[in-house]
Amino acid sequence: MNDPILVKLEKLRVSQTVDTNPIYRLHRQWMQVALNRAIAAGHAGEVPVGAVLVDGTGVAIAEAENRRERDHDPTAHAEIIALRQAGQILKNWHLESCTLYVTLEPCPMCAGAIILARLGTLVYGADDLKAGAVRSVLNLPDSAASNHRLTVLGGILETPCRQILQAWFQQRRESTKSP
Ligand SMILES: [Zn+2]
Repeated sequence: MNDPILVKLEKLRVSQTVDTNPIYRLHRQWMQVALNRAIAAGHAGEVPVGAVLVDGTGVAIAEAENRRERDHDPTAHAEIIALRQAGQILKNWHLESCTLYVTLEPCPMCAGAIILARLGTLVYGADDLKAGAVRSVLNLPDSAASNHRLTVLGGILETPCRQILQAWFQQRRESTKSP
């Protein structure tokens, strides 16, 4: 329980003040925006993952969803698209003052991009037990390969973020079953 992320998650689960804490309320509001993008991606035939990037003044400057199938691009994950949009808007690739909300724990590619962007804070919904590179499988931000430390908060709107993925994969399995 010394892992700071685990401690944060545990605090989030047991805290009686979560519902009234304005910071968590804000995190949930932005995660809901990311979740809406994930739902849109799912309807478009993509694995449903969404992201929103908020600048240091609390304004959303980028919103994105997984576009791998539509763009025929293996790198078109929601986080990568949001980081690119934010860099274009801020005219700066340094995103220290920004917070990225994403419905699923980032993969190694996205965790790498988050480190390269010097992102200030990462907030994610569901753990990715197969490919999560922030906590579940790897911890790239705290590894020797990283020269940047960022604040990470997981488990925000965890249940809907996980359920939308589970429902999408279940639907796909059923639709690919032979009659
Ligand atoms: Zn990714």
